[in-house]
Amino acid sequence: MTHAIELKNLHKYFGKNEVLKGIDMTVEPGQVVCVIGPSGSGKSTLLRCVNLLEQPTKGKVFVEGIEVTDPDVDIDAVRRRIGMVFQQFNLFPHMTALQNVMIAQQRVLRRGKREAEVTARENLDKVGVGAKCDSLPGQLSGGQQQRVAIARALAMEPDLMLFDEPTSALDPELVGDVLTVMRKLAEEGMTMLVVTHEMGFAREVADRVVFMDGGVVVEDGPPSQVIGDPRHERTQAFLHRVL
Ligand code: ADP
Ligand code: MG
Repeated sequence: MTHAIELKNLHKYFGKNEVLKGIDMTVEPGQVVCVIGPSGSGKSTLLRCVNLLEQPTKGKVFVEGIEVTDPDVDIDAVRRRIGMVFQQFNLFPHMTALQNVMIAQQRVLRRGKREAEVTARENLDKVGVGAKCDSLPGQLSGGQQQRVAIARALAMEPDLMLFDEPTSALDPELVGDVLTVMRKLAEEGMTMLVVTHEMGFAREVADRVVFMDGGVVVEDGPPSQVIGDPRHERTQAFLHRVL
């Protein structure tokens, strides 16, 4: 079976700073893999190497069997299959929720206005903000904005989704709505690689949890093991701080 994502001996330097020190990791189709670890451990960099928002220094990245680190690959074609949701929602502030979800469909997928609008409304409904189509991002709560950002990614009909701390910028009372949407996506079989500090979510939803520290994978296994019964002292110390 082809892996959804495969990282082979992935290294990333920023100048002389080695941020990823030989990462090996796979995500299978339909799996949810949560990446946890302290700030600065390289989680965002790892995620950004999957769709080449960062260029790996060494090693290979495969998405659905295609080597994206091959200089001859059509990276835009691969990126179209990957949805990404960031901590900061990155919506266009002067566009309504509906327009935010339509624009990439029209520009990147060349969908017509009518089709883009139908798909946008479907996905805004799906994440529970269908009533907010005509609102500007500034008129929405953080949780609503993040759900618009998820709808925008889903409207592109990606094969897999990358989430980088999607709830970290939210007020605590708004976190649940976003996690509920993510849980629903997982239940529908979406392949998801999720950097998160939400241990409850990781425990309940993840097929595997990967603990990173200092640019290496320290521990990789089912949540019951990595969170429930961590083997490594560094994992134990981290969990002790966050739980
Ligand atoms: P995490 O997401 O786990 O907090 P990051 O991947 O954001 O970690 O960062 C890992 C390390 O890489 C940090 O030391 C950070 O300062 C450094 N880093 C991240 N992005 C850049 C960049 N664009 N230029 C230089 N250093 C960076
Ligand atoms: Mg980060």
